[in-house]
Amino acid sequence: MAWSGGARFQVRYDACIIGAGAEGLACAATLGHCGVRVAVIERAGAPGGRCVTRRFAPGFFASPYADELAAIPPSIFRDLDLARRGAILMPDSEPRGAIDGVRDAVIARVLADATITPSRVWFRRARSAPPWPGEELATRNSVACGGEGRGDPDRSALALLAGPPGGLPHGGLGALGAALRSAAEDAGAKIFCGLEVTDIRRRRGHVVAVGLADGSEIAANAVVSTLDLKRTFLALFAWNELPKALVERIATFRAAPGIARLLLALESPPTLPKGADRALLRRPIVVAAPHADALRAWAGGLIPERPSAVLRLVSAIDPFLAPDGGAVLTVTLNAIPHAPFDGPWTNDKRERLQTRALALVDEAFPGTSAKIKAAELIVPPDIENQLGLTEGDLAGGALSPSQMLSFRPFPEMSGSRTPIAGLYLAGGSAALGPLATCASGVAAAIAVLTDLGADTGRDA
Ligand SMILES: Cc1cc2nc3c(=O)[nH]c(=O)nc-3n(C[C@H](O)[C@H](O)[C@H](O)COP(=O)(O)OP(=O)(O)OC[C@H]3O[C@@H](n4cnc5c(N)ncnc54)[C@H](O)[C@@H]3O)c2cc1C
Repeated sequence: MAWSGGARFQVRYDACIIGAGAEGLACAATLGHCGVRVAVIERAGAPGGRCVTRRFAPGFFASPYADELAAIPPSIFRDLDLARRGAILMPDSEPRGAIDGVRDAVIARVLADATITPSRVWFRRARSAPPWPGEELATRNSVACGGEGRGDPDRSALALLAGPPGGLPHGGLGALGAALRSAAEDAGAKIFCGLEVTDIRRRRGHVVAVGLADGSEIAANAVVSTLDLKRTFLALFAWNELPKALVERIATFRAAPGIARLLLALESPPTLPKGADRALLRRPIVVAAPHADALRAWAGGLIPERPSAVLRLVSAIDPFLAPDGGAVLTVTLNAIPHAPFDGPWTNDKRERLQTRALALVDEAFPGTSAKIKAAELIVPPDIENQLGLTEGDLAGGALSPSQMLSFRPFPEMSGSRTPIAGLYLAGGSAALGPLATCASGVAAAIAVLTDLGADTGRDA
């Protein structure tokens, strides 16, 4: 299909995916493999979403939003042929006590649910499903962690259920994004970048098309949104078009505490404190503030005096990221407010946060701030602007007991389905968002294939 930007016209696909991040691309690759004609619409100039690697100073590269993501289930990694496509993962994290088998059981359940054609009686169907694997454990643990279940990296429900993250891809997360793009394109998916979806259109209650900012329309029998729950429903539909109970449910879905990232280009690697083990340079260094205090400060819109942080010398694991002799250190700062209580982020507030972050860096590696050649600070509103995530929340919603597993986000719906017929949700707000990268995209694809089966004449 030739795309003439700006023209007002309609094209038709079997399925349309909003967002070309990891989930959108995995979904597109899976659908394309099964012969579905699929379009992926991406508002940025290139695909990848948070799976990007950016040059933030001459010769220095980093993944701006995260160093690594949740692990990709091995079966999906194999099916998408990601190793051959250059996604070489370098596991270096300390195991964090995953509960063996629970994560796999949850993934298997969502994928199985996706193959069941639903009876669409939203908010009326009795909830008779058996408890989810890990549900009791996650709930107990979330309560112990102050209700959010995420902020304490060692004890949170997320850490317990998800297990260790997937490892740093060689070349940064951009290499993973490129591998997923190649999987989607080889499967025949069409990826259109620089186009923003502005609304989702319905006829007789069923999704029929998405509208784009340039005035054109893509008609599709199924639409998969990888945007977060609030953005999908409250930005892409008019409120008064949706059932009141649905709007209420979505309006009360809470964001997870935001993060900020500081990317540091260093003229030479940090110096270790006397007697410290050199292996320290390859490990994430966690600087923890009391979890309850951090959450209270975040909820009150305070920029923390001493933030919880994770420091990673990413170039010690992947030398490609820095020039010879140099180094790249990332600092992930947790529980950073999207909207400080005293008004929007200003240069002064950014500087204050950066100074506090650098104090943590100097504590771990004395003298490092004197080696800085360039620094980039990314705060939650930047993430919101760049990735289109509500409040810059990379998690797609807090992981409290009422927002996890079957409750993420609609207890009554199976697989990745939503109360709107023909609309599917993948990404952080979906049940598998926290557990595994690419799994929510694949689950959405399976649900689409199941529901489109008759129309496309193909088996899932
Ligand atoms: C509790 C929890 C913790 C998590 N922690 C992290 C974490 O620390 N770091 C992390 O990175 N992930 C984290 N995740 C997220 C997880 O990795 C995601 O589920 C998922 O893998 C991200 O990929 P994505 O494709 O959904 O989103 P993205 O990579 O964000 O891709 C979305 C894409 O949509 C595009 N887009 C936005 N608006 C529009 C529009 N209107 N039209 C067209 N395109 C648009 C964006 O440009 C972007 O490319 C967490 C999830 C949970 C639930």
